[in-house]
Amino acid sequence: MAIYFDNAATTVLSQRARNVYINTAANFAGNPSSVHREGHKAKEELDRNRDKIAALLGVKSTSLIFTSGATESITAFFSSLLWQEPGEILVSRIEHEAVSSQMAILKRFGWEVKTLKAKGGFVSVDELKEKLSPKTKVVAVMAVNNVTGAIQDIKGLVTAVREFEKENRKKILFFSDSVQALGKTGLDLSDSDVDGASFSSHKINGPRGVGMLYLKNPNAFRSYAPAGGQESGRRGGTENLPGIAAFAEALSEWYENRVEKEDAIRKINNNLREELSKLKLTILSPENSTPYILSLSATLPSEVFARVLMDKGFCVSSGSACSNNAKGKAESIYEAMGVRHDLAAKAIRISFDNNSTEEEAELLLKAFQEIING
Ligand code: PLP
Repeated sequence: MAIYFDNAATTVLSQRARNVYINTAANFAGNPSSVHREGHKAKEELDRNRDKIAALLGVKSTSLIFTSGATESITAFFSSLLWQEPGEILVSRIEHEAVSSQMAILKRFGWEVKTLKAKGGFVSVDELKEKLSPKTKVVAVMAVNNVTGAIQDIKGLVTAVREFEKENRKKILFFSDSVQALGKTGLDLSDSDVDGASFSSHKINGPRGVGMLYLKNPNAFRSYAPAGGQESGRRGGTENLPGIAAFAEALSEWYENRVEKEDAIRKINNNLREELSKLKLTILSPENSTPYILSLSATLPSEVFARVLMDKGFCVSSGSACSNNAKGKAESIYEAMGVRHDLAAKAIRISFDNNSTEEEAELLLKAFQEIING
């Protein structure tokens, strides 16, 4: 396999997660909703894995709903708003398309959508304070941006919302797409007081097609897809038990010596940042970014540079993976940040997981040097 630096798009399934997937599929054949012994066994296994994840994240098990991925979690959260009287929603301009595409639906149902800028890559607490109004019902700001890695001040933003709530005696929901923060700096569910958050298993060496929706107050949530009654009536459909068990395993593996592993990746990232700057490349990831993402502007249009690197045996992303399907998405994030268009058009994203090594990064650097110096 090529040397893989596109972990923000998806990661390789870990051996441990793969083993758990296979064993769970083989040993838990029943449907968790069935009343017979095999069903009970499967239900117990489902709950055990929910408890395992909840303990790692420091939240209550009842606050976690399993889904088919972050896109479904996000859709579930925003669709649930359609049961309410419409109001105003403040959403950042740097959201993943899974969130931003929901806004058209909300508008169609009478919601007023206002955006929060992200100059330099960050949503500002002051701007949020200025824009909060008695009409505001929801605020949505992601925890870590998938294009640049910028870590948002979720705690500061939520605090501003809670203060406004107190002064105005009204409830405002704060949603934070936390896909790129799971298991990494930038996520603190037990402390940040968000009302909802989305997660995806395949960004942390778990299987694809498994995700999670966190709800601080699940009883206040009204599902758009309750059929079947699974997940306490909040997400109908037979649970993907092998996938969920493998997700739980991947997450606990990720959390083992988490800080040491993240420090090792930070070292790789910082070193690449420094060396690539010496090649006169513009680093696009702000200083306060996750160590797992490093974005920069290269010397050729993004797709061309990514292809040249592929020819040399490296997988990187030309912006965000989704930009390959929805052209221009990464560019719109850079535009929101205030990055010059010519730099954004040459953006490359290098992203790591805990298996990324210094040796691989050195080879990548050498490839950059060869391409740029000829
Ligand atoms: N949100 C962010 C920030 C992401 O990076 C992604 C994946 O690229 C998603 C949402 C969608 O996740 P999933 O593939 O699980 O639907």
